[in-house]
Amino acid sequence: MIGAGAIGLGTAWHLAQQGHDVSVYDPRLNQSVDREGSANDLSGTSASLGVLMGHVFRRSSGRGWRLRRRSMELWPQWIETLQAHQPDLRLHSGLLQIAEDEQAAKRMEALAAQRVDLGLQMVTNADLATVWPTARHGGLHSRHDGRVDPLLLQLALRQALAEQSVELNATAVIRLDATTTTGMCIAPMETAPFTSLWFSARP
Ligand SMILES: Cc1cc2nc3c(=O)[nH]c(=O)nc-3n(C[C@H](O)[C@H](O)[C@H](O)COP(=O)(O)OP(=O)(O)OC[C@H]3O[C@@H](n4cnc5c(N)ncnc54)[C@H](O)[C@@H]3O)c2cc1C
Repeated sequence: MIGAGAIGLGTAWHLAQQGHDVSVYDPRLNQSVDREGSANDLSGTSASLGVLMGHVFRRSSGRGWRLRRRSMELWPQWIETLQAHQPDLRLHSGLLQIAEDEQAAKRMEALAAQRVDLGLQMVTNADLATVWPTARHGGLHSRHDGRVDPLLLQLALRQALAEQSVELNATAVIRLDATTTTGMCIAPMETAPFTSLWFSARP
C-alpha cells in the first residue's frame, strides 16, 4: 500500500483482516499524527475536517451514491472495532447544512422529502436561531451523517495495523515500473538521498 492516509490505512487494514500480507509505505509514518508540527505539510487526511456526507449527496443513483450508502453502513462498524485502539474515536452524528438562498432551500426540501427514511429533515430559521442566527432560508439536517476525527482515525488504524503485524515502512516509493516479467518487486535505490523503493509490476 503506497500512502498511509485514511484511504491507504483503511484499505491495508481491510486486506490484512482478510488474511493478506500487507506492507505500507509512507514517509509520513515517521511523523506523529497531529497538526501542530507540520501545519504546512499535512496529508489530505490530517488536513481534513472528517465530515461524512453520505446521505446528503445530491444524486440518487450511480456508483458514487452506492459507495456513499455502503460506507455510511460501514463507518459505525469500523469505528466500533477501532475503539479498541482509540476509545475516544466516535461517529459524531448529525450534520447541518445552511441554505444560502431560496434556490438552495428548494433543493434541500426536495431532497429531504425523498429521504425521510434516511434521516433527512428541513429545519427553520427559528430552529437555527441558537446555532446560526443569521440563517435566512432554513437548512437541512441529516441525522446519520456526521464527523469522525481524522487524527484519531489515523492513530487507531496505525495501531490496528501494528497489531496485525502489517509492515509499516516510513519511506517514499519513488518509481513504479511495469517492465519486468517477475511480477511486483521492491528494490532499494542506493543513489537516492533517502531510503526509497521502486516497484516493478507485471505489464
Ligand atoms: C482542507 C481539507 C479538508 C477536507 N475535508 C474533508 C472532509 O471534511 N470530509 C471528507 O470526506 N474529505 C475531506 N477532505 C478530503 C480528504 O482529505 C480526502 O478525501 C482523504 O483524506 C484522502 O485520503 P487519502 O488516504 O487518499 O490521502 P492522504 O490522506 O493525502 O494520504 C496520502 C498519503 O500518501 C503519501 N504519499 C504520497 N506520495 C507517496 C509516495 N511516493 N510514497 C509513499 N507515500 C506517499 C503521503 O505522504 C500521504 O500520507 C479534505 C481535504 C482537505 C485538503
